[in-house]
Amino acid sequence: MSVSPVYAWCFDHGRAHTFPADTKPWCTAAWVPFRVSTEEDALEAKQAAYGDARFLHQLPGDKQLEIIEIQESWARHLQPPAAPAQ
Ligand SMILES: [Zn+2]
Repeated sequence: MSVSPVYAWCFDHGRAHTFPADTKPWCTAAWVPFRVSTEEDALEAKQAAYGDARFLHQLPGDKQLEIIEIQESWARHLQPPAAPAQ
């Protein structure tokens, strides 16, 4: 059974992360997962949602809060994302 890895943008390290499925992400900083199947799509999704910002301080306050909330709820539940229907 193959589960897609999680593609995320990290606003702490300022770059994309890829986390293997069903493992605890090694980065605990401010990253946002995207429901995509390639790193390239993740970069596009990040660009669409957050523009050119690479780091948290380059985002407006409400976006920063959104990212922190996403990260906190992810850390609390530690659930892999729903696998896309194949
Ligand atoms: Zn990171």
